[in-house]
Amino acid sequence: MTIPLLDLVAQYRDIQPEIDDAVRGVLERGAFILGPNVEAFEREIASYLGVSHAVAVASGTDALILALRACGIGPGCEVIVPAYTFFATAEAVSHCGATPVLADIDPRTCCLDVADVVRRVTVRTRAVVPVHLYGHPVDMAPLLEMARERGVKVIEDNAQAIGAEYMGRKTGSLGDVGCLSFYPTKNLGAYGDGGMIVTHDAAVADTVRKLRSHGWRTKYRPEILGWNSRLDELQAAILRVKLRHLDSWNAQRRQIALRYGALLSDADVGLPWEAPYARHVYHLYVLRTKKRAAVQRHLTELGIASGIYYPLPLHSVELYRGLGDGPGSFAEAERAAEETLAIPLYPELRDEEVGVVASAISEALED
Ligand SMILES: *Cc1c(COP(=O)(O)O)cnc(C)c1O
Repeated sequence: MTIPLLDLVAQYRDIQPEIDDAVRGVLERGAFILGPNVEAFEREIASYLGVSHAVAVASGTDALILALRACGIGPGCEVIVPAYTFFATAEAVSHCGATPVLADIDPRTCCLDVADVVRRVTVRTRAVVPVHLYGHPVDMAPLLEMARERGVKVIEDNAQAIGAEYMGRKTGSLGDVGCLSFYPTKNLGAYGDGGMIVTHDAAVADTVRKLRSHGWRTKYRPEILGWNSRLDELQAAILRVKLRHLDSWNAQRRQIALRYGALLSDADVGLPWEAPYARHVYHLYVLRTKKRAAVQRHLTELGIASGIYYPLPLHSVELYRGLGDGPGSFAEAERAAEETLAIPLYPELRDEEVGVVASAISEALED
């Protein structure tokens, strides 16, 4: 038996008739870029997240770049990002000509430590990008309060957390702008690349609409220097089908997480924490252990996949060495990079497979 980290083919088989119909509909209509499915999908996401505007773009990375640009971030601005995240969070800041400033993480959630953010704020700080890592929300209330007091924009990187909640409200809808990714492995994944920005701010939405399509509202009349960053009809049609299943998939993810938690409660391993303010959607189920290499080796021998998200904190990535002061600069991010291990969790994972994975982990930790 082999158990992958996720199984997109199994998911397709479960919803094949709906997907095939949606794809055929697009092919028969013959409109492929920013058509009726994209518009409908934007409305459906806006309503799902409880925001007034949604603008689809070509990827989650583009969503971050265009959101930052629409918030006026450029050269001379500092933008605070977590030291432990996917590289794109900081990359987007650099692409705007601004300077990423790192802050450490809370070891319980691996999300931004808001107290450390406050310490890193300067007169040049224009934005902060909380990343709802692994599907768990950042503690937004104190972050939003600080941002309001200082006039700092809050741009949520919600790539991993669609459907997650902070105090009963959907992540992505809490700050000035939320950014989504529909990369195939995300909780709501396309069969290709895709992304979206969501916001309550009509002006930001309007600017992103221009930026994603050559800076124009009316064809051939650019108002600002833009881009080509659009979602296509096929992906939108597929994502509309999948959005209808998202809540039930996220519920299944939570069920599996609960099962892992029960099976591993006696093992000497750090389990994911769900804060009292949070509804976690377990994009990844991430353990913490000092014996990571041994656990991973044992799982591999048994045909069980596992993954490290992420092996390096940003200030250890060659390109971003300058953002830290060597080892010890962001102690919790560094520790997380050494101890985190994601194990298989996806809605189609069967109970007996969950049992097999949990036993393998317990065995590895006993040696
Ligand atoms: C996936 C991801 C992105 C980028 O999304 P793409 O669609 O792959 O460009 C950004 N931030 C985080 C935290 C992500 O997980």
